[in-house]
Amino acid sequence: MADKNMKVFENVPGPYFVDTECIACELCVDGAPNHFKMVDNKDNMPHACVFKQPENDEEKENCEDAMGACPVDAIGDNG
Ligand code: SF4
Repeated sequence: MADKNMKVFENVPGPYFVDTECIACELCVDGAPNHFKMVDNKDNMPHACVFKQPENDEEKENCEDAMGACPVDAIGDNG
């Protein structure tokens, strides 16, 4: 289960977030490209973040699917 106390700082505020367990597999970006993107900071490992929170049921479903697909449970919805 993703830990809201371990969020990567690039997430925008809101319920959905990526935490530091992300292994940069890019599945969430492929599945929900309107909400997740990869970031690659020089002093950090590449990882995903949430750049746009869902605003309707369809978008929420996309984010839920991405959360379910994450192989390391690095996506949370209780941020
Ligand atoms: S699916 Fe999970 S591990 Fe893969 S990039 Fe997204 S948050 Fe990271």
